[in-house]
Amino acid sequence: MNPFSFPIAVFVVDQDGNIQSWNKACEKMSGFSADEIRGQPLGQIVTPDRNSGTGPLKFDHDCDLDAWLTCKDGTSLPVHVTAARHVLDPQHPQSYSVIVIPKGRSATPPPSQQLIQDAPLLDIIEGLPCVFYVIDQSGHLLLWNKRLEDALEIPGEDMPLLNVINFFDDKDRPYIERKISEAFLTGGSSHEASLVGVKGKRTPFLFNCALMSLGSIPCIFGTGLDITAQKETELRLLVRERAMYASVNAIVITCCDGDDDVIEYVNPAFEQLTGYSLAEIKGRDPRFMAAPGCDEDERQKIREALKRCQSVRVVLRNLRKNGDIFWNDLRLDPVRNADGKVTHYIGVIEDVTTKRQYERRLQHLANHDPLTGLANRTLLQEKVQLSMTFAQRNEALLALAFLDLDNFKFINDNFGHEIGDTVLKEVANRLRHNVREDDTVARLGGDEFVLVITSQPSARHVGELMERVRASVSAPVRVDGKEVLPGVSIGVSLFPRDGDTVDRLMRAADAAMYHAKTTGRNNCTFYSEELNKSVHEHLSLRARLAHAIEAGQMSVSYQPKVDLRTGAVVGAEALVRWNDPENGVVLPDKFIPVAEESGLIVQLGQFVLARACETLRELQEKALQHFTISVNLSVRQLRDKEFVERLAALLRTHRLAPGSLELEVTESQLMDDPEEAVQKLSQLKELGVRLSIDDFGTGYSSLSYLQKFPVDYIKIDRTFLREVGWGERDTVIAKAIISLGHNLNLTVIAEGVETTEQLSFLRDHECDQMQGFYFSPALSREKLVEAMLARIELAR
Ligand code: C2E
Ligand code: CA
Ligand code: CA
Repeated sequence: MNPFSFPIAVFVVDQDGNIQSWNKACEKMSGFSADEIRGQPLGQIVTPDRNSGTGPLKFDHDCDLDAWLTCKDGTSLPVHVTAARHVLDPQHPQSYSVIVIPKGRSATPPPSQQLIQDAPLLDIIEGLPCVFYVIDQSGHLLLWNKRLEDALEIPGEDMPLLNVINFFDDKDRPYIERKISEAFLTGGSSHEASLVGVKGKRTPFLFNCALMSLGSIPCIFGTGLDITAQKETELRLLVRERAMYASVNAIVITCCDGDDDVIEYVNPAFEQLTGYSLAEIKGRDPRFMAAPGCDEDERQKIREALKRCQSVRVVLRNLRKNGDIFWNDLRLDPVRNADGKVTHYIGVIEDVTTKRQYERRLQHLANHDPLTGLANRTLLQEKVQLSMTFAQRNEALLALAFLDLDNFKFINDNFGHEIGDTVLKEVANRLRHNVREDDTVARLGGDEFVLVITSQPSARHVGELMERVRASVSAPVRVDGKEVLPGVSIGVSLFPRDGDTVDRLMRAADAAMYHAKTTGRNNCTFYSEELNKSVHEHLSLRARLAHAIEAGQMSVSYQPKVDLRTGAVVGAEALVRWNDPENGVVLPDKFIPVAEESGLIVQLGQFVLARACETLRELQEKALQHFTISVNLSVRQLRDKEFVERLAALLRTHRLAPGSLELEVTESQLMDDPEEAVQKLSQLKELGVRLSIDDFGTGYSSLSYLQKFPVDYIKIDRTFLREVGWGERDTVIAKAIISLGHNLNLTVIAEGVETTEQLSFLRDHECDQMQGFYFSPALSREKLVEAMLARIELAR
């Protein structure tokens, strides 16, 4: 069959529906020339038949349909239209070849094979959705399509004059030359390069070419596919990949491989964070980095999210390559393919180790004492509660111990706060060493510590442990060449015996500690009901005493002192009395310890001193110039910085010679801190008052200190006289004290003299003075003045 017997009209429509090519048959059929029709929308000349659907004609897949062709003369021609896509990829917008056959001319349309063969070559080339070219070995174009002209921005007539090498950038030219030679030599080549238009337009193409012969002339046929879109996508991906690469957060991409997720990519930040390089860990399950036994809950969250293909955020611990643990804040997101199936997970990791450590540090600070690092009150309460719950569940014995240092204020005042702090830290260490890991050591502030001891077999074990603790804490602390003796009073309560709530248990231990303090210090007391009562009484006594001092219930009595050689009354000792409206006269032994311990002694002592001075003034005015009054003094009064000054003022106010006042301090109080005592006594001595060591023989004076104390008198404690006439031992001590006093040039006074035997013993051993019921009990001021005047009268 003559292929030209059918006037087959073929044209090409581009992706936007505009006509790109128009062959001679089209011209003939429609009357429009190619120039007139090129670039026109398809819908302008082809209208689908009503039966083939309505609306403007548009192709998006291969089709066959009946339509009307609008001719130049205004007539409409019934035609059959066949459209065929140029490329099969459904994803890409593309152009179509359209074949138009006038209806009625052919009962059956010819097969498409036939139609294609009939299509004019140049039209097909023009219709190609790519650049087309044929070049000879000199590099000149023999044939090309309009797309090439467009890309190069060159009119068609200029094209054969140029060597194709000029269509590229200078820098690309050697490469292009190589590729062309390669095609001539090997039969084909392919490469990517950008065509550069004369006005500067650059279009990237993928060129593919093959060697052909036109007769005997070898030439190359090639196509260039515009890859602008791919290049843009590639660039976008590249930018994203760079971002991922440069991210400060560690990034890991895992690929789902059956049931496993294995590492496919990690960025440099990840390598730096973990110490692993991508090469080392590619293909491994990222879980190999998990810190064993940690963060089970968080890991469970990950497993669940992976099962449901969901995003998840967790904070967990992993191990670096060097074995260090680090905290990572991990966000995992699934990546789905076109079918919605998860193929990858992207993990973004932030190293929050420092943040975590900071948080932990804050938490530590909130719960710990900054000086010693021990638990503070807040944490202690929590621990006691937990230990109680534990003890209850296990029917175990729990002990709570309150510890209070005996000399801490003294240490601070005398050695300075820095040494005080060192002592506290040392005590904290000693406590830690004496208990187990599970036990709690806390500091409540100041010099108060608490131990929570769990799982004790018996109260006896607790007692033994406490003795160890006491001995350990009160051992000397050496700081800067000095030796400090902390001393500690311990109170213990037991759960459940002594209290069933945190508060009750703590109060019981506190009460026991208080008791330990009042009964001699540096010991340990267990809580008991009686103890509670006695502590209670002690506290109420303290309150009543404070009130009594304010309310003027205190008075002073005077016990005369007699010169053993002359029998003259040389002075008197001022002794305080409490005239309690409820209980009558209360003697000092009952309340002086409370006054000492609570500090009320300072106020009370000042009161006694003032009264004694008034009495002295009165006696002197009544012509008793050489009478002295001695006043008992607590070391606490001496520590008061203004004491000496105040005393001087008092003496001035009452116009008294300082020598008429005598101050008594007990030997044991002096020996608590003999260095301090020497210093304070010297100040008083400078003032001119007389000084005596009271209750001599009960403390542990060393001879060296005795020599240093600037005192005038020693008073033999009355216990040494009790046995006079009965046994040897105590009289030996009394005798020794008298001679010791005399050797040191001190006046020796015996107190508590009740019998004639005692009196003659003292006379025999040349004791200087005495006081005691044998001669007189303590008298009121009025009685004393009266008795003294009577004696003067008698002497006359
Ligand atoms: P002290 O300083 O040893 O006072 C002597 C105590 O012995 C007084 O007891 C006195 O009444 C008592 N006494 C006197 N002669 C005899 C006797 O022949 N036989 C017996 N068995 N006792 C005798 P008091 O007044 O109860 O004072 C007790 C302690 O209270 C005093 O012992 C003293 O240490 C302290 N004290 C009294 N008044 C004050 C004061 O104003 N300040 C201070 N800091 N302590 C005071
Ligand atoms: Ca005394
Ligand atoms: Ca005494």
